[in-house]
Amino acid sequence: MFIDSHAHLDGPDFDADRAQVLERARQAGVTDIVQIGYNRETIQRGMELFRDNPAIHFSVGLHPHDSMDWTPALEAWIEERSEQPRVVAIGEVGLDWFRDYAPRETQIHCFRRMIRLARRRGLPLVVHSRAAEEDTLQVLEEEQAGHVGGVMHCYAYGLEAAARLKAMNFLVGFPCSVTYPKRNQREIIEGLQVEQMLLETDSPFLPPQAQRGQRNESAFVVEAAKVIAQVKGLSLEDVARITTRNARELFRLGLPEERVLAYPIRRSLYLNLTNRCTADCVFCTRLTKPVVKGHNLALRREQEADAAEMVAAIQAQGGAGAWEEFVFCGYGEPIMRLDVLKEVAAWLKAGGAKVRLNTNGHGDLWHKRPVAAELAGLVDVVSISLNADNAAQYTALVKPAWGERSFQAMLDFARDAARVVPEVVFSVVDDGTLDLAACKALAEAHGAVFRVRILDETG
Ligand code: SF4
Ligand SMILES: [Zn+2]
Ligand SMILES: [Zn+2]
Repeated sequence: MFIDSHAHLDGPDFDADRAQVLERARQAGVTDIVQIGYNRETIQRGMELFRDNPAIHFSVGLHPHDSMDWTPALEAWIEERSEQPRVVAIGEVGLDWFRDYAPRETQIHCFRRMIRLARRRGLPLVVHSRAAEEDTLQVLEEEQAGHVGGVMHCYAYGLEAAARLKAMNFLVGFPCSVTYPKRNQREIIEGLQVEQMLLETDSPFLPPQAQRGQRNESAFVVEAAKVIAQVKGLSLEDVARITTRNARELFRLGLPEERVLAYPIRRSLYLNLTNRCTADCVFCTRLTKPVVKGHNLALRREQEADAAEMVAAIQAQGGAGAWEEFVFCGYGEPIMRLDVLKEVAAWLKAGGAKVRLNTNGHGDLWHKRPVAAELAGLVDVVSISLNADNAAQYTALVKPAWGERSFQAMLDFARDAARVVPEVVFSVVDDGTLDLAACKALAEAHGAVFRVRILDETG
């Protein structure tokens, strides 16, 4: 499932075969397209052509190239259009110092007016910015575009600009030109989280490498996704799911109510037993946004699965033999559901699977007995978030239900686990405040392997 977040399908290039273009997109898995209108003509034509097609959403705005046409009357007309059904954004709007088709002052004025319009309407922005990095960011910041967020489409700037955009709730759009050998954007893609990315085609422009010189169309959005998957070491499905979710959230297309029990990331299948936890880590989005690589792991207590349901969920994903590893992990503490965990792990081991448990190590406190020995023969790797090398720092960061003594309990659990489980890992996120050497020494003293993780890189 893909979303083409930026296309111009109203133009004459598509007059001969528009229906086939849409059909090919559908067959390629493109569920939704955002049709971008950037002046009176394109807005009107797009809305007329696609009025009855619920897969096509509209963005309306005034392009920097057309900014000389700005009048209060035209702005009022665009605002009126923005109230039509399925209008999901204001854009494309922005600054273009590359073509300079309109005087810069005019472009900036129009851009400001369009941002204010988006804020009035509570709609996200679709921003076009070419050779105007600093000025675009400055205007967005001055006009507090962060209130509505948006996307900078055809992203051509670096990581620093992306960070400033992220602070304003902006995503960045990558078109099919990421497939060009010359315009290699791999480094930028490598440095960004897929959670900040949208896919787009900008059809009819910027066709992928294999179609260069021809017209681009929405079905080819898959080519951009393939490059991102390859650079990020993710599967195409991962990129499709994450970017689709990003687009659905940004354009408020609605998210399906989900009950995710087993979810794939790369070659592993993750198992979600609960959204409850015995900690309240300061960095955790368990309660606000329990989303990992596009999977929504929110589970109300009554939605938690029993062992039979977990097994069925695994079977629906191909079964015990289908994945390199099975990981009990979620936005919650799996060991709180030890009975289910053990039953499912036993079933997986009987099927020859490799099993990992990601835990905060509070199992003994929660169950009021030492529990690590019960994992013998069921789990191959226990990965524990160490977080700090001392109880005070640990408690401040993790906010465990039992206060400072949780730190020692976690270490005890680790030592016990190391006696019965082939591999115990202590992981920390290096945020610059940790004494990594002390953490490593603690790991060694408890029979654990030490691993430093990257913040926000789950899965
Ligand atoms: S232990 Fe894990 S799930 Fe629990 S609050 Fe901390 S980060 Fe979130
Ligand atoms: Zn553009
Ligand atoms: Zn465009």
